[in-house]
Amino acid sequence: GRPPYDDGNIFARILRGEIPARKVHEDDHALAFHDIAPQAPVHVLVIPKGPYVSAADFLTKADAETVAGFWRAVAEVARKLGLEDAGYRLLTNMGHDAGQEVPHFHVHVFGGGPLGPMLA
Ligand code: 5GP
Repeated sequence: GRPPYDDGNIFARILRGEIPARKVHEDDHALAFHDIAPQAPVHVLVIPKGPYVSAADFLTKADAETVAGFWRAVAEVARKLGLEDAGYRLLTNMGHDAGQEVPHFHVHVFGGGPLGPMLA
């Protein structure tokens, strides 16, 4: 089964303002900030504001407006970062085999130059 949401995870602490982050976008549905260890010229993380452990958790539990609002925010982040013309990559890790480190759903946004075959 899925683990319960842990309120003490690092992204929950960023959402509460307990830990600083270099924010690129915030709205009712999402917060986006630069990854602390970038793996591409642009490497941003987009997270929903609610307590979701993973993409599967989010997509099965959040209501339709919340899901739509989150993905619109992802698109807005790419627009704000100027990635639309050259393109970019979205990625989310789920669980152990994918190497998910932080148990709060997040989408990686990679761009700013040609990307290799895999990142994150
Ligand atoms: P995951 O492996 O869970 O998909 O990705 C977690 C990401 O969060 C990693 O790319 C890691 O560099 C990033 N990260 C971990 N801790 C922090 C932090 O405190 N601040 C920021 N901005 N990024 C973090």
